[in-house]
Amino acid sequence: MTNVDVVVVGAGILGASTAYFLRKSGVNKVLLIERGDPASGGTGKSAAIVRSYYSVPVMARLAQEAVSLFHNLEAEIGVDGGFHATGFTQLVPPDWVNTAKELVAMHQSLGVDTDFVPESDWEKRFPWLEQDGVGAIVFEASSGYADPVQTTEGFVAAFQRDGGEFRSRTPVRSLMRDGDRISGVVLEQENITAGVVVNAAGPWSRFLAESVELDLPIHSVREQDSVWEVPTGRPLPTTPVSNPIEATYMRPMGEGRWLFGRGYPKPYFVVDPYNYKESADENFVLDLRDRWCQRIPSLQGSKLLHAYAALYDVTPDWIPFVGPREGLEGYCDAAGGSGHAFKTGPIFGRELAEWIVNNNVRDDFRHFSYDRLASGNSFNQAFGGNRV
Ligand SMILES: Cc1cc2nc3c(=O)[nH]c(=O)nc-3n(C[C@H](O)[C@H](O)[C@H](O)COP(=O)(O)OP(=O)(O)OC[C@H]3O[C@@H](n4cnc5c(N)ncnc54)[C@H](O)[C@@H]3O)c2cc1C
Repeated sequence: MTNVDVVVVGAGILGASTAYFLRKSGVNKVLLIERGDPASGGTGKSAAIVRSYYSVPVMARLAQEAVSLFHNLEAEIGVDGGFHATGFTQLVPPDWVNTAKELVAMHQSLGVDTDFVPESDWEKRFPWLEQDGVGAIVFEASSGYADPVQTTEGFVAAFQRDGGEFRSRTPVRSLMRDGDRISGVVLEQENITAGVVVNAAGPWSRFLAESVELDLPIHSVREQDSVWEVPTGRPLPTTPVSNPIEATYMRPMGEGRWLFGRGYPKPYFVVDPYNYKESADENFVLDLRDRWCQRIPSLQGSKLLHAYAALYDVTPDWIPFVGPREGLEGYCDAAGGSGHAFKTGPIFGRELAEWIVNNNVRDDFRHFSYDRLASGNSFNQAFGGNRV
């Protein structure tokens, strides 16, 4: 039987950054356990777009802090996480323009570097854009995209440099419970007792919770993405683009390659996270190509390089469960990113560590606890799905 102060299960972006900030805050023995390698869950397949455009104020705050952290990531963990501060382009359908005005005002009040692009500038700034059906365009100058694997590996490496212990290829079989206290984790050949267990196992966190009869309503839905090579010399976006008009998103990948996906609104299919189809469907690829060529005609003739499916771990209100629970000692949730928690992952990790170590938590952050369900205090969002 080994004893540690905190054990974090899962080295996706949430677990890796939580472990790093716990150790940085001076927790003596922090153990990070991962079934595979860092970022082998949803994080490794993430589009990793880092932007602020949220309708929920606390998410906008976290995203704004995340953008700032990504700009300074190298000073924090020693690598830049492949972050490209390209800016971020948000297309707005005509019937959402009034909501977008409220959001942009809210974001500006938080210090987000965001504004509407005047229509007279569209032709010059977005020569690739088919303007028909676009009600407005919001541009965030400081946002961009990162490399999710490099970022996560960077947090794990910095955690280890600071004296944290990381075990890869080590599945946690179940949690251990002693009455109203979660007391540790069960490995294949060993039990580990811990002052606090952080359940950051993404789509699989539900099963760990159920192993000690805890409810954790997180469903896994299959999310497909694709990578395309675009012929050179054409007008193309230089930033990630979110396009709710055709329900799509895209981002540059460098070397003439682009990542394309479908965004909300669209159907979501719940799957078994231990057994789902990881290749993409043919009709997804064809439909996606048609949607994007409509909006960016210069994409005609692009070559598909790769298409795949991964998992969103979705909570009932599409906002993660992060933090301890009332009446249960020694346990914290850190899962349920619902398809948008790469960017905010490190800030969730930082604020959760502060909550665990110093019991210091901002009022808006307390809202992320699973307890919001019992108190009927779920989050309200203007958009739907993972657009939040
Ligand atoms: C296709 C796709 C595109 C996305 N695009 C964006 C985007 O553009 N921007 C954005 O902000 N977010 C995006 N997201 C969402 C974001 O990537 C996720 O919310 C985030 O990465 C989830 O991180 P996590 O650490 O909570 O979970 P995960 O990355 O799933 O990590 C959980 C880890 O736990 C491990 N684990 C599970 N069970 C056990 C066990 N029993 N024992 C030990 N280890 C275990 C797993 O192996 C895994 O490594 C996207 C997600 C997907 C799938």
